[in-house]
Amino acid sequence: MTYSSSLLPYNLRCLGEHWLAVSSSGDHIFLDDAEAESLRAGDPQSLPLSTQAALKSRFFLRSEPESLGSARLLAARRSARHETLKTGPSLHIIVPTLQCAHSCQYCQVSRALEDNGHTMPLNDLYAACDSIFDSNAPALTIEFQGGDPLLRYDLVQAAILRIVARNEVEKRSIRFVVASTLHQLNEDMCDFFKQHQVYLSTSLDGPASLHNQNRPTPTRDSYQKTIRGIGLARQHIGKDSVSALMTTAQISLKHPEVIVDEYAYQQLPEIFLRPLSLYGFAKRNQTRLGYTLNQFQMFYERALDRIIEWNRRGVYLREVYASIILNKILSPFDNGYVDLQSPTGAGSSVLVYNYDGYVYPSDEARMLAETGDTSLRLGKIGTSLAKLQESPIQQSLIQASLIEHSRDCRTCVYNPFCSPNPVDAQAQLHDLYAPASSTEHCQRHLWLFDLFYRRIRQADDNLLDLYYSWAQPDSVGE
Ligand code: SF4
Repeated sequence: MTYSSSLLPYNLRCLGEHWLAVSSSGDHIFLDDAEAESLRAGDPQSLPLSTQAALKSRFFLRSEPESLGSARLLAARRSARHETLKTGPSLHIIVPTLQCAHSCQYCQVSRALEDNGHTMPLNDLYAACDSIFDSNAPALTIEFQGGDPLLRYDLVQAAILRIVARNEVEKRSIRFVVASTLHQLNEDMCDFFKQHQVYLSTSLDGPASLHNQNRPTPTRDSYQKTIRGIGLARQHIGKDSVSALMTTAQISLKHPEVIVDEYAYQQLPEIFLRPLSLYGFAKRNQTRLGYTLNQFQMFYERALDRIIEWNRRGVYLREVYASIILNKILSPFDNGYVDLQSPTGAGSSVLVYNYDGYVYPSDEARMLAETGDTSLRLGKIGTSLAKLQESPIQQSLIQASLIEHSRDCRTCVYNPFCSPNPVDAQAQLHDLYAPASSTEHCQRHLWLFDLFYRRIRQADDNLLDLYYSWAQPDSVGE
């Protein structure tokens, strides 16, 4: 019997000394120049049998005639990467107020404590809570953002009670998250949060010297108050009740190691090294506050090395951005990170109910509205989910995020896991359909995927184990 095979779709990218090939299932292989040339020439039969076998098991090659089992397996692998988009919105962000005790220079949205005009009316809050159940998703995450939601704890409490009451009938799996400075957190709040299994998420930009400079308050003790809040939450709600993330400001760039060390000292199991968003106020102050992608890359790699060093010493610390990328590369089950979905998860898997009475497709879209660009509003709070999904803006977001509609993405080796980000394109270039390669989103993710493929190739067994543990879907934040 003659063995023959044909090539399935794939893309190639040169990573310095080696070539990276990624198949449409998202599986990858590293090739040398000659092997890459054989593949490009459509002559995989000239490759050693072991390489052909590897290519076949990773969906680069199929036998002729194709077996039904292998076609089904490929379809299932592709489908698993889009699983989170099928159930309807599962992440619902409620913004009860923009008030905040901090006055961070780079913050896009917050308003001073005495500013009362930026808080959600109760009728909108209840309408938002009820709308959440329009989604068919069996598991719902409801996240309170701000400003600082704990400055309007009354609204947070009212929303949680309303959702819990409705869920007596709905019986969904519900997870509540409150993103806060934790400055206002007290024992009564902790008791309520414990009763309703509410998780807390806070910001920690490093040790006191960095955090207090980055997140100023009139009393210059934002670090001390946040650390007190973390301690209180752990004591009253539970050891794992609070997580933290950091925003990389210009002053952070020189201090990656001390920032990582602070997370290890505070026994936080994860750190999210987020670049500064270009939206809003930060964009207007870019020369004073901003930095280049290259500067962020140097900061990130030094911080990542320090995190790996802590893990080698036996202290588990996970970098969330790395987990998102490694989940895409190493796990067949996509965690559904909203910015890397095609079609976009903005509006499809995430909805934001803003204090201004409108529903937005993502947190970035509502931040953009604060700068005067309200073009991404999906509709008023209370509009049915079906109408929001049919809205012209949601349809445009979907069209603008399709790989097949983007010349840059169609031939990009990372297209099984990535996509154009129309919200980013609108914020940066005022054009949902701007070429993907002209966006900061594309440049950053191209670099991140390059970085982690290179690191995976060079990793020893211990490091690979760590990368696989970070890649598990459960371990990746939304
Ligand atoms: S956005 Fe950029 S990195 Fe992502 S698939 Fe498109 S071209 Fe590739």
